[in-house]
Amino acid sequence: MALKVQSPKLSFWERIYVAEVFRGLGVTLKHLAKNTVQQDAMPTYQYPEEKKPLAVRHRSRHRLTVRENGAPKCVACMCCETACPAHCIHIVAEESDEVWIEKRAKIFEIDLLRCVFCGYCVEACPEDAIRMDTDEVVLVGERREDFIVDREFLMRGQGEEWKQGRPAEGPSPRQGEIEAPPATPSDDEGWEAGAPRTPIKIPAGWRTPSKEV
Ligand code: SF4
Ligand code: SF4
Repeated sequence: MALKVQSPKLSFWERIYVAEVFRGLGVTLKHLAKNTVQQDAMPTYQYPEEKKPLAVRHRSRHRLTVRENGAPKCVACMCCETACPAHCIHIVAEESDEVWIEKRAKIFEIDLLRCVFCGYCVEACPEDAIRMDTDEVVLVGERREDFIVDREFLMRGQGEEWKQGRPAEGPSPRQGEIEAPPATPSDDEGWEAGAPRTPIKIPAGWRTPSKEV
């Protein structure tokens, strides 16, 4: 059924628009003057100098919590890796040298480019060994490996600069040579069906994704 929309009844001055245009300009000028003399009261944030406060329940970059002796609390139970829907956690366990702990993480990596920041890993952890409370929500890097963070990086906790502790400089992926795709039907022989036509040669030192999915 068609809905009949009632048009508001306009006065003479509203119908000729000129007065309404000047009224609108008056509102704009009023806010301009107010915001010029009272900049602190403006409802905007002067980003990046002034950061917007994060919600209490926000999820930011992960960190691994540590024991009093400085060792990570993680006991390599793999619960977080299993719960992770993005398959971006990679853990390799080893035997712990502490008698009351069975295992510890030899390798603990998170691929932050794959992470969807769902927090399932934090929920799944029985040891309170992983948290997402570093307040780091803007993650910047130029290379994929900048975003694959390891155990030592994750143990640094809050307040660290994002790029501290990242892997040693390696060749940039931008410098990777592009392998020429097949140019003729005969070149096509041996080319895997459905394979990308412009595969990038991975430069030496470029780390592969933490886990194949
Ligand atoms: S926040 Fe979610 S996607 Fe990211 S590592 Fe944890 S479980 Fe995986
Ligand atoms: S961080 Fe927690 S859930 Fe993940 S392996 Fe370590 S102890 Fe298990």
